[in-house]
Amino acid sequence: MNAQNNHDSSQPWHPGSWRAHPVKQVPDYEDKRLLAEVEEQLRRCPPIVLAPEAARLEGHIAAAGRGEAFLLQGGPCAESFDAFSADFIRALYDTLAQMAQIVEKGLGKPVVRTARLAGQYAKPRSSAVEGRNGQELPSYRGDIVNSHRFEAPARRHDPLRMVKGYDQAAATMNYARALASAQNDDRFFVAHEALLLPYEEAFARPVAPGQAQGAYYGASGHFLWIGDRTRQPDGAHVAFLRGLVNPLGIKVGPTTPATDLLALLSTLNPGRKAGRITLIARMGAGRVRDLLPSLVEAVKASSQPVTWVCDPMHANTISAQGGVKTRPFDAIVQEWSGFKAVLDQAGVPAGGIHLEMTGRDVTECTGGPQGLQESDLGLRYESHCDPCLNATQALALASMVASGGKS
Ligand code: PEP
Ligand code: MN
Repeated sequence: MNAQNNHDSSQPWHPGSWRAHPVKQVPDYEDKRLLAEVEEQLRRCPPIVLAPEAARLEGHIAAAGRGEAFLLQGGPCAESFDAFSADFIRALYDTLAQMAQIVEKGLGKPVVRTARLAGQYAKPRSSAVEGRNGQELPSYRGDIVNSHRFEAPARRHDPLRMVKGYDQAAATMNYARALASAQNDDRFFVAHEALLLPYEEAFARPVAPGQAQGAYYGASGHFLWIGDRTRQPDGAHVAFLRGLVNPLGIKVGPTTPATDLLALLSTLNPGRKAGRITLIARMGAGRVRDLLPSLVEAVKASSQPVTWVCDPMHANTISAQGGVKTRPFDAIVQEWSGFKAVLDQAGVPAGGIHLEMTGRDVTECTGGPQGLQESDLGLRYESHCDPCLNATQALALASMVASGGKS
């Protein structure tokens, strides 16, 4: 076994075995009894997705890794309880469908959509606390943990929010499935960051119902990813996800050492199954051409079959005047172009793109066809977290991807 790999795949795994590992970013619930009650309730809830659906997605992702399909991942940074509406879901669904059509036509290959939806509620934070006007409160960690309102009671970590998150995820999935079925669209999948481990553990279910001794899958979403802040090879998130059969994503940021990446691949994909792992690179427009080549080469040399996807959002966030977060459309385009150039140079397929976007006409990212300026950001800024592309910007980006990646 690799010396850096602290997860021996021969060690028994069970849905709660992550609890023995160092854990980052999970909430600090005061009421442990309520937490246990909520976990028990969630364990009995119907799954959001089924194992054969996740297996089908894995097959599509394997095809994207071989350059025979293209993976389009998109949705809000964080789903919210306030913004929940049929319109929000339908607008995202429609925008992703239009983008898929554009890319499919341009690239001449099938596009597989996975929305950041029906479970994308928990957020990692760089700091545990947030200060405003001399007052310091716990950071907002997504609606499934606490509220974004800057008041002490609202920022408490509340286990009951997991029940509300599940209910909303179930209603969202119900509507998304109906939209897909009405259009004979069988390729619509959902994805989220598997961050909130108590919630994810409750949805770790046997692939064969009732067979607790066999394989498990994450029933909270088809595709689950590990964020850039929780990808430590010996950490709890990796310990949890290695036991699920779903296709998995790993965010790969500017501080990811090649040794960690290889350790993660051998832990999470010891059987070297194609489609199992999607590497989601988020390096920054100015750095992707320098930082990505050695990682792509290291993975290539390891013979691990992965699907490389570009997240051109997360390393291109800047503060506009007044401190509001934004992302310039041009930087997003540049990161995609850099990513594509690096992969082309290595002879590895650029397998897809991962976007923070909405189907609504928000004003959160600057630039794009509407020429949004920093002074426009206040008009319709809806995100409580990271800035999203609006529908017009997302479609323009799809056209750019469809043209082969040249800007
Ligand atoms: C995200 O995708 O919303 C996110 C937090 O990304 P990362 O882990 O890459 O920072
Ligand atoms: Mn985000």
